[in-house]
Formats: sequence, C-alpha cells, structure tokens
Amino acid sequence: MGLKLSEKMGRLGTETAFEVLARAEALGREGRDIINLGIGQPDFKTPPHVVEAGIKALRDGHHGYTPSPGIPALREAVAADIARNRGVDVDPDRVVIVPGGKVTMFFAILMFGEAGAEILYPNPGFPIYESVIEFSGARAVPVPLLEEKDFSFDADAVLSLLNERSRLLIINSPANPTGGAVPKAQIDRLVAGLADFPHVAVLSDEIYSQMMYDGHVHTSLLSYPELEDRLILLDGWSKTYAMTGWRMGYSVWPRSLVDGAVRLAVNCHSCVNASAQYAGIAALEGPQDAVRDMVSAFDARRRVIVDGLNGLPGVRCRNPVGAFYAFPNIAGTGMDARTLQNRLLEEAGVATVAGTSFGAMGEGFVRFSYANSVENVERALDRFATLLSG
Ligand code: PLP
Repeated sequence: MGLKLSEKMGRLGTETAFEVLARAEALGREGRDIINLGIGQPDFKTPPHVVEAGIKALRDGHHGYTPSPGIPALREAVAADIARNRGVDVDPDRVVIVPGGKVTMFFAILMFGEAGAEILYPNPGFPIYESVIEFSGARAVPVPLLEEKDFSFDADAVLSLLNERSRLLIINSPANPTGGAVPKAQIDRLVAGLADFPHVAVLSDEIYSQMMYDGHVHTSLLSYPELEDRLILLDGWSKTYAMTGWRMGYSVWPRSLVDGAVRLAVNCHSCVNASAQYAGIAALEGPQDAVRDMVSAFDARRRVIVDGLNGLPGVRCRNPVGAFYAFPNIAGTGMDARTLQNRLLEEAGVATVAGTSFGAMGEGFVRFSYANSVENVERALDRFATLLSG
C-alpha cells in the first residue's frame, strides 16, 4: 500500500524563485554565463562586524538552546531598534525572534486559518502567503495590487472585501514582487475603516522597510495605537543586513497572541541558532553605514533597470519606490509571463521570475531583482533586447 499523505499537503504551494535559482545554478555548472536577477536576496555580504559577533559567540561558548522567544538582550535590541526607526515603544516581551521572516507569516496564518475562515493577502504578492493560507484550510481572498495604482490599493476596496468570516489581513509594504508601497493616506483610511471590523487581525510584513527611494518614507502599521491589540509585525535581518542565510527574523505580537506564538516556536524550532542571535544584536546596535551604502547602490541600479526596461519594445515599467524589484508589464511582447521567464533563462541566460509565481494577478508581468551589479543589470538588459529583436 502506498503512503497516504494528509490532504492539506496537496494544498501547499511553493516559491518558484528557489526553482529558478536551482535551474540557473545548474546552467552555470554546464558552463553557461547566467545573470541572476531571479532570487530576492542582496548581493552584498553581511557586514564584517556582524560576522565577527557571530564567530565570537561561538568561541564564547554560546552553543546551547536559548529561551524560545529569543535571548533577552536581542529582544531588547529589537525593541530599541523599533523605537529608533518607527518611533514606537514596544515592550520587549512582545518581541519573538524567529528563524527568518517567513516563520512569522507561517505562525500568524496557522493561528487564524481554518476551514470557514477567510484571510486576505496581496496579489501579486509573496507566494508563501497564498500557499500557507490554502494549507491552513482558510479561503485565500486576494487583495488586487494594480499597476495603474503603482501596485498599491484603495483602502475602501480592501475594506469592501472584509466580512464576518475574515480573520486576518496581510499587508506588505514596500512589496515583493512589485516594489510598490502603500501611501500613508491609504493606510490611514484603512486603519480608520478597520474600526468596523474589530475581529480582523492584521499581519504587516515590513521586511523591506529600510529600502525606500525617491524620498518616500515608510509608514509602519505599528505606529497606529488603535491596532495594538491585533497587529502582528513581521521584520528581520535577511534583507536589511544581507543576512538571508543566517535565518534571522523577528515579530511583534499583540500581548494576547505572544503565548500562542511562543508555543508554536517551541513546537517547531525550539529557538533560533544562538550565535546568529548574537550577530543580530551586533547588526542592530552597530554602525548602520553598510545598510545605507547598500540602499544607495540599489537605488542606482533601480534607475538603470527601470530606464532600460522602459526602452524595450512591448515592455513598460512603473517606478518601484521600495524593495529591490522591478515588475515590468511584458504583455506587449506577445509572450505570457512563464514563456518569457523560460526564454530569458534558457536562451538569453538571464534569470527572472514570472509574475504568475506571485499569484494569478501577476500574469503579464515578470519580476527582475536588481540585487546585482549595474554592469550585470546592463548586460541583462542587452540580452533581453536581443531576445525581443530575434
Ligand atoms: N516577506 C517578504 C515580502 C519577502 O519578500 C521575503 C523574502 O523574500 C520574506 C518575507 C522572507 O524573508 P526570510 O528570508 O527572512 O524568511
């Protein structure tokens, strides 16, 4: 008799960027010159003082379990960082250290998701939201992010999707894959409207909060006291400090949900790698110039890629104001998103991710991560131009 998996396993999706990365690396091993604009991770190294702090922690003997929600000094450092960057005082007891930003979304969605419940998520958006909502048994309700609104939304349109079955609303600003950000006026309106839906929790994924351009300022949902009892903040070290491989994230939970979050952590991963937590303290408390340098490098590349894409036939690209992604509309090329992704990789040697990997509403778009050098971005644009002219 064959193995019998649980039915929910059939509902779990994936993150195609990892498949593209594997294929790009396989092509690279065959000797092909692949320019990787596929995976969403900074091409910079973790700042050296952060690496040293991790090594020192190992040498100092921090080899054991830590408290499940994180070592107290790190939870305090996160609270201090939130006060500095978001101007909000948060009790360190509400901070939970997790192995990567993804874990906060997994826990939050599992906490609220079950058959009969509805969870709203951005579409196109980070693919794991929809995947885990489906896995939980809840109905995944897309919040459309539209090109004509620079991939933001109208708060009233979001509010109109809420009903008595709604349990959780996921917001991601600045956003993957679009680079869009929700203007403060729309967030104000959304928060005001949420007063009519006190049973709806909000998960605010602010993992790109430090990466904003053209003078745009990040608006944190955490800065709205009226949401304090139902706002879950997701952030972490992966993008801001080029630490994707360290698996370090944090969340801030409403007081009533902290126990549930810690219980999930105890059942899942016990605690985060001890030495990585010490590196996390050094990242937050040490000099921030590496972060600033990285963001200004992204800004320069952003200009190159957006200009370049807008110069290609059949391609048009909105100006992304955050994160490190361009999300051009490619419908005018005559190819669908998946065909273009495949042809760019196999024929032109440029790894990108089809918009449909971020939800059905991503058809007609392809995500270009510009976490690569200006030179490589320019070479990729040349190759894209050659593919289109062929
Ligand atoms: N949230 C968004 C919007 C992301 O784009 C990503 C990673 O790409 C994550 C969360 C997950 O980050 P981490 O690698 O820390 O799990």
